[in-house]
Amino acid sequence: MRDDDDDGVGGGHSGGRAGVALPWSDGSFPPATLSQRRVVWDALMGMALHEATHALASGDVPVGAVVVGPDGRLLGTGRNRREETGDPTAHAEVLALRQAALSRREWRLEGCTLVVTLEPCVMCAGALVAARVHRLVIGAWDPKAGATGSVWDLVRDQRANHAVEVVGGVREHECGAMLRAFFESHRERP
Ligand SMILES: [Zn+2]
Repeated sequence: MRDDDDDGVGGGHSGGRAGVALPWSDGSFPPATLSQRRVVWDALMGMALHEATHALASGDVPVGAVVVGPDGRLLGTGRNRREETGDPTAHAEVLALRQAALSRREWRLEGCTLVVTLEPCVMCAGALVAARVHRLVIGAWDPKAGATGSVWDLVRDQRANHAVEVVGGVREHECGAMLRAFFESHRERP
């Protein structure tokens, strides 16, 4: 049984009132103006950055992600856990998408927004399209392996049956600095 009692933003399934309420999930998400949106993207990126710091404990590259629903409620969080779990697919975005789908009891994440500290790779870009995520908010671009605008652009490929709106460069400096600090501290000595 699905509870479709709200306004059905985005035309997809609402998933009822799944997730955790956040300050902007009172009916005004996403905000109307660019400057108001920027404040919300900054705040969500702060949550993703916080999630990323937890990856450091297991020696994982610090990447964090959060997923919010069409109403701005928090549906899932994830951090890179490849080293911790030995799972090559345990990227922050995939784990956040899985948790969001569990929250909604629905694999379709129509109307949802994924916020991540680093531009997604090929696998994660594919997962975003497969989950029909509406919007992607990126911290730092990845000029070497990014698949949502840098090296490839799989989320806006006209051959795919779904396109994702991309918002880039949110708290870009902080997101990039966290990664640079990690790689500098892990650089092997000659
Ligand atoms: Zn990835």
